[in-house]
Amino acid sequence: MILLYTRENRYLVHNIQNIVENNGIETTLKNEYAAGAVGDLVPHESWLELWIVNDNDYDKAMLLIDNATANSTEPDWLCSNCKENNPASFEFCWNCQTIHD
Ligand SMILES: [Zn+2]
Repeated sequence: MILLYTRENRYLVHNIQNIVENNGIETTLKNEYAAGAVGDLVPHESWLELWIVNDNDYDKAMLLIDNATANSTEPDWLCSNCKENNPASFEFCWNCQTIHD
């Protein structure tokens, strides 16, 4: 297995997992339950990690992530619930998980 993506913001990781798995690539999460066990200062070790199950899918997955996180021609969208800015590729708000309509 290869570590694909990790961020302090767990919703970003879930969004990336959503994009990758929607393209038929199997992933698994590590540190999924770690956040509640630490204090206000979250050490890097407890960041939610997205791992790819089949190493052969790594290049394809990285391409998907690049496309998802790169500056695209599509405009970012503003969450109607919490007013946070989201990249066009995100189907859910990274902050509150409201579905983009
Ligand atoms: Zn939101």
